[in-house]
Amino acid sequence: MEITDLEVVGLSHTLPEGEGLGDARGFGHDRSTTLLRLETGDGTVGWGEAFAPGPIVEATVDELFRETVVGMDPFDSESLATRSYTDPYHFGGSVFVQSVVSAVDVACWDIRGKAVGRPVHRLLGGRECEELLPYASTMYYTERDRPIAEPMREAVDEGFEAAKIKIGADPETDAERVRTAREILGDDARLMVDMNGNYRPDQAVRSIRKISEYDLTWVEEPVPPENLSGYRELRERTDVPLAAGEAHYGRFEFKRLVDDRLVDVVQPNLARCGGLSEARRIADLASTENVGVRPHIWNSAVGLAAAVQFAASVSDYPHTRNVPDPMMVEFDRSPNPLREDILETPFDPSGGTLAVPQGPGLGISVDEGAIERYRAD
Ligand SMILES: [Mg+2]
Repeated sequence: MEITDLEVVGLSHTLPEGEGLGDARGFGHDRSTTLLRLETGDGTVGWGEAFAPGPIVEATVDELFRETVVGMDPFDSESLATRSYTDPYHFGGSVFVQSVVSAVDVACWDIRGKAVGRPVHRLLGGRECEELLPYASTMYYTERDRPIAEPMREAVDEGFEAAKIKIGADPETDAERVRTAREILGDDARLMVDMNGNYRPDQAVRSIRKISEYDLTWVEEPVPPENLSGYRELRERTDVPLAAGEAHYGRFEFKRLVDDRLVDVVQPNLARCGGLSEARRIADLASTENVGVRPHIWNSAVGLAAAVQFAASVSDYPHTRNVPDPMMVEFDRSPNPLREDILETPFDPSGGTLAVPQGPGLGISVDEGAIERYRAD
């Protein structure tokens, strides 16, 4: 089996003026990502996603990957991540290189699954679960100051039993956002908060002390992802679970998070961390220190599908089935046609569960006509 064609497809969607959504760092109107389409000699198509701008992905593919990937057997993709650190030497530490590795690797796993007629999670290490607990990513900061309770009520009405909200713009107002979310969700639901790395450690401590009474499943990126000493300080000064990983890539960066237990949960993004092959290595690393693994997803439907397949294969060690700690996947509730419109059958998180696709490969059918509507070029 040989890859005969590689296409890079930049996608983008712009929210209307006034409808911008954001996090503690500011508002945005643009959603963009890049898909990678591989085709083999027998016409099998595999899809992957690079969570990076299209022109950069295109240039990185052309300079560093096209020659290697075209002609490659998709079953050889696991060596790509390793090779990216040695050939060309030193380039593997680039987020753009690892985003491209991610896209190629996921597309190869999609093809591999289709070639043997199995869903990817069965090939990655086995089926740990067939249903995941989707959590709503919601309560964004909004351009028009939408009342903070509204999006959480919508998520509950859709059936979500877990949610993550944006805080981190101001330690003084964080508690009101968390209290509102907890009141609407109820006491039994899982609630996470995301500070998007907007605080210095002392500010994060101040905020966490005001919100820790609300039974948080984790506090995400309380300080910038590079500030490992900040994570260490928060470990010592707070008693909430910490999470990070969406801005990290490759086994070497995740090893630092895991080795000293700087976080309780690592969050690899399947379109940035190095793909399914590397995510499996990251999950193995995490298991050695009993650090949880919950994928980060703010992608198109292709990256979501890869994350769902990965999540379904991750062991919940050391828990037994008696410990209620279900595998969760992030389900963004901001408007995003790149998530809803590019599949023949979109994912459906309503009702509080997300079924793991059981079809071959990623288990999705990409609507190539819809993709044309969102092409960035
Ligand atoms: Mg986040």
